Amino acid sequence: MSKNMGLPRQRKRLYKKSNKCLICGSKKLTRYLSLGNAAPANSYLTKLQLKQKEFKAPLEVYFCHNCHLAQLLHIVDRDYIFSNYAYFSSTSPMLVKHFEEYAKEVFQRYPAQSKQLVVDIGSNDGVLLKPFKKLGARVLGIDPAKNIAQIANKQGIKTIADFFSKNKVAKLIKKYGKAGIITSNNTLAHTDALHDILDGVKELLDEKGIFIFEVQYLLDLLNHNEFDNTYHEHICFYATRPLTYLLKMHGLKIINIIHTDTHGGGIMVFASHSRSSLTIAKAVNEFLENEKRFGLDKLSTYKKFAKRPPIVKKQLTRMLLNLKKKGKKIVAYGASAKATTLLQYCNISSDIVEYITDSAPSKQGKFTPGTHIPIVTPHTLKTKTPDYIIITAWNYADNIMEKEKWFKEGGGKFIIPIPQPRIVD
Ligand SMILES: [Zn+2]
Repeated sequence: MSKNMGLPRQRKRLYKKSNKCLICGSKKLTRYLSLGNAAPANSYLTKLQLKQKEFKAPLEVYFCHNCHLAQLLHIVDRDYIFSNYAYFSSTSPMLVKHFEEYAKEVFQRYPAQSKQLVVDIGSNDGVLLKPFKKLGARVLGIDPAKNIAQIANKQGIKTIADFFSKNKVAKLIKKYGKAGIITSNNTLAHTDALHDILDGVKELLDEKGIFIFEVQYLLDLLNHNEFDNTYHEHICFYATRPLTYLLKMHGLKIINIIHTDTHGGGIMVFASHSRSSLTIAKAVNEFLENEKRFGLDKLSTYKKFAKRPPIVKKQLTRMLLNLKKKGKKIVAYGASAKATTLLQYCNISSDIVEYITDSAPSKQGKFTPGTHIPIVTPHTLKTKTPDYIIITAWNYADNIMEKEKWFKEGGGKFIIPIPQPRIVD
């Protein structure tokens, strides 16, 4: 279902369609999910941009029959996506807390390596490096978003505004030495330059160094129907087997895995040089076995999953249209990337949802991609109080409902859209 035919010519260059697996290069790929044509999830629009034709690209997920990676093949130009990325990690208190614990955990496990040098690839505004630095680590951030890197530098976290790449490593080593710890959170899911990055990691990582990365976990995504975690910036959906395959290609091995609850379920993966004497924890095999039991190696598992999003779309739109008919005022909470996907896929725009709140100042005053819902501060809930709030940031539903319990006490109702739409009583 290629819908890109009608796009203006000059827009076409903004994405390319690959025909081979990002990890193993196999061409044996099957599309199992199509969420239609969509605007990139983090491309929030200014009022002026609302009048221009919006760039959209097919949002489809494919399964590789060889290494079993689930992946997008329509790759949106990374400069388009990241040059003005509006996501500041430190504006999310929940993420700040998560990374504080993350830093503590790593520092306790590997104090010597942490003191040597911690390099964070895709360091955002230094949300992970700040707690590392506080603990006494030597830190260095690398992030392509210039506006974000600038802020990190101002706050005392040395950050290079660039993409991490193998050809830059020699210079880094000369200036800062080898890294005892390299971290990278969600970056490996958000790039099609995987092999170049991992070649760079291998070179930059000290002999006894540890490479730690966190990615969303495919098994959780499938289990909880988190199809809204699909967006153009999110290219790969990882499980242990394809990751093992990928790291091995670059002389690295997985030594441990921890399950986390970030973004609806993630895994924190610890890796080292293949030749290092570090032993492999039991957990790694347990993850592999569990994934096999679930059927992550079979296309049928993914096809079964793909039947669920259309049901959410049908139920949610019916629910909202009914409320609208009764004259109810509906808004949404959390203009995250997954909100963009959910709203676009379900065709929910500003005629149904009056506004969407977000705590990031960089998003406020802008409009959601594709659906053009105004993004406002959370305080708006108090001045223009709705009857219903859709929690689009459903992974924080408990925290949000606790924080905004005044809303429920005043008779308002929350709607949680995933795994299936429900009104919270
Ligand atoms: Zn593959």
